[in-house]
Amino acid sequence: MGRVVHIDCCPICGSNSLHKEFSAVDHFVSQECFDVWICGHCGFRFTQNVPDEQEIDKYYESADYISHSDTEKGLMNRLYHFARNMMLTAKAGHVTRATGLRQGWLLDIGSGTGYFAHLMTEWGWTVRAIEKNSQARHFAQEHFGLKSDDEEAFNTLQDKSFDCITLWHVLEHLQHLNIMGDKFYRWLKDDGALLIAVPNNTSTDAIHYGADWAAWDVPRHLWHFSPATMQLFAQKHGFKIMKTIPMPLDGFYVCMLTEQYLGHKMSFLRGFWQGACAWVSSWGRKERSSSLIYVLKKV
Ligand SMILES: [Zn+2]
Repeated sequence: MGRVVHIDCCPICGSNSLHKEFSAVDHFVSQECFDVWICGHCGFRFTQNVPDEQEIDKYYESADYISHSDTEKGLMNRLYHFARNMMLTAKAGHVTRATGLRQGWLLDIGSGTGYFAHLMTEWGWTVRAIEKNSQARHFAQEHFGLKSDDEEAFNTLQDKSFDCITLWHVLEHLQHLNIMGDKFYRWLKDDGALLIAVPNNTSTDAIHYGADWAAWDVPRHLWHFSPATMQLFAQKHGFKIMKTIPMPLDGFYVCMLTEQYLGHKMSFLRGFWQGACAWVSSWGRKERSSSLIYVLKKV
């Protein structure tokens, strides 16, 4: 393995009382093991010794990387696409409700193949889409005529220029967590809304599967949030959490993927069943939901 990022103080609270919790396997690309560590002070979990920015790209190189390559092969992918269309409209609704605006300026970070950014454009929003992966940017351009920029564009964004910033399952991939947290604050208008969707490692399905839970997704997921640690992240960067919204479909997907990785017979049905159990157990208890959308506003 090449160069790695070793973390010796907690990115959230600064404590150096960190220890390894377990090892998880990268089932998706490399089959390598990575360690998930926890901060003994605030409980924040992170992947330790991840490949650095130059090395990490190869861990994204898989034909199955559906959020980028947009393949519709296989039942899992078809379900993913069906779920995505349902979720897209829901996400757009969350933006308008969180901002109280029907139209405005939106920054979508990690816009991928551009489905959400495109929908928001159709809804009349002025969208700035940023995506690291050049294939995904190319897809967005070809498919939707949507222009997205690479990460260099972060340097050109004006302070207080967006009504809404969205990160749909993106924050957990960003190497410079706190630098980005400060930037979100700067780029957002004072009454703007920051929407962050991330997997929840205190969810029923995370606890059920333990180290096998597919949403650890090491080493691509660098940070593993729970409602408690998202609260600390929000505070650290001058935000408060206004609302948390469960994403039940994500739970089904993660459970089915986990069962597939485990190589169980009838993994689809078992995953569906576990997803259903996890969903029922999260009724009225959002902290158990597989993934959560956090709606943040400036304090
Ligand atoms: Zn900590």
